[in-house]
Amino acid sequence: MTQTQNGAVSGWTLHRLGGFQPGVVLHVPHASRAIPGDVRTAILLDDAALDAELAAMTDRHTDRLALSGALLAEVPTALFVNRWSRLVVDPERFADDALEQMASIGMGAVYRSTSQLAPLREPDTDAQRRLVGRFFDPYADAFADLVDQMLDAVGHAIIIDVHSYPSRPLPYEREPNAARPEICLGTDLVHTTPELLDAATKAFAGFDVGHNTPFAGTYVALRHYQRDPRAWSIMVEARRDTYLDEDTGTLHDGFDRLVGALAGLVRSSHELCHRGGAVDHRPPEVPAGLRRTYVQTVVSVDGDNGRLSAHAAVEQLGEPLYIITAANPFGTMLSEDDNRARHESLGDVLIASGCRPYPAVGSSPDGNWSEESWAVTGIGSATARRIGRAFEQNAVFELSGYTQRVLGCFGDWAVERQID
Ligand SMILES: [Zn+2]
Repeated sequence: MTQTQNGAVSGWTLHRLGGFQPGVVLHVPHASRAIPGDVRTAILLDDAALDAELAAMTDRHTDRLALSGALLAEVPTALFVNRWSRLVVDPERFADDALEQMASIGMGAVYRSTSQLAPLREPDTDAQRRLVGRFFDPYADAFADLVDQMLDAVGHAIIIDVHSYPSRPLPYEREPNAARPEICLGTDLVHTTPELLDAATKAFAGFDVGHNTPFAGTYVALRHYQRDPRAWSIMVEARRDTYLDEDTGTLHDGFDRLVGALAGLVRSSHELCHRGGAVDHRPPEVPAGLRRTYVQTVVSVDGDNGRLSAHAAVEQLGEPLYIITAANPFGTMLSEDDNRARHESLGDVLIASGCRPYPAVGSSPDGNWSEESWAVTGIGSATARRIGRAFEQNAVFELSGYTQRVLGCFGDWAVERQID
C-alpha cells in the first residue's frame, strides 16, 4: 500500500517514469480485483458469485499493458493506477447520479447492480455517499492535481485511458449489438483533439479499430471536464481476446503487439505535448572513474531465508540476477522519503512486469553509503537497462556466477569484477 502524506492508505498508485516533465499520463482505472474488507461485507454476493463478477468486470492486466507500453516508449510518462476494484467505486462515472446515465440501471459511481443486472448492494444513499467521499473524491482530486501539474509544467496534458472489454456483451451493456472491434477508441468532443485521434489511429493501424463502440467517451476528471481544453484525452479499449485467454486470464502472444502499439501512441503523444518546445534531456556522461566506483559496490539480497551475499543470491535465485535501484536519479541526492517512494514505485513496476522482486542493498565497500534496490531474475539486460532508464539511473548490476557487471543504462558500456 502507498501511504499518503497524512498517513492514510491511498486508493491509487502514481508512477513517474523517465522523470523530466511528463505531459502524458496513462490512466488505468479497472485493472484491480482488490476490495477492502468492510466494503466487501456490504456486497450481497457470495464468494463464488463475487469471483465471477470480478472476472467479468475487471480489465485484467491493463496495468501491465500500460506499464509495459510506457517502459517501451522511453519518454517521460506518468501512470495513475487504481488500486481498488471498480466494484468499490468506478472513478469513470459521474458521482452525481443525476448526471450519470448508467445510474438508471444501478451502475453509477457506486454500483448497486452486477453486470448481470442482479443486486450487488442494498440501496442506501448514505452508504453510497460515504463511499464517494472515501474513495471517489480523493481519487478524482489526485488525478486532477496531477493533470494541473502537467498543465503548469508543459502547457498540455494528454490522458490515455486504458481499458479492455469482453468479446461477448454483458447483460448490463446499453448497446449489446454494437460492433466489438479489436480496439475501441473512445473520444470526447472537447478533449479528444483531431491530432490526438490521428496519433491513436496511426499507432493502432495494424488492428481492427472502431470509434466509441461498444463503449464511448474517455476519462477527464470533473475539474477539467469541458472546462480546460488543454487537457486532452482518449480512451483505448482492447478487446480482451486480443491479448489474453478470456477463460483463464492468461496472456498470449497478442499482448506484445498491443504493448508495441500503445508505446507508439505514448511516444507520439509526448511529441504532441512538447511540440515547439522540446524538453529532451541528455543524461550525464558517466566518467570511467565513476564506473569503477560503481563496480566496487557490495550487493546483498534479502532472500526467503535471510540476507544473502551477491554470489549466494545468484545460487539461490538464479542468473542473471539484476540489481536495480530507483534512488537518487542521476546521482542527485534525494530525501529519504522521496527515495522510499521511488523504491516502492520501482517494486510495483517490477511486479507488474511479471517479476518477483527481492529487497537488495548496494553499499560502498567501507559501508558509509548505501542504496535500497531490488533483485530480479527472468528479465534480460535490455529490459533491465530500460527499467533503469525509466527510473533515471546511470547503471544497473548484472550478477552471474562469480561475476558482478555494471551495465550503463545509456550507451552500452559495462565494467565487471569477480566476487567471492
Ligand atoms: Zn474498463
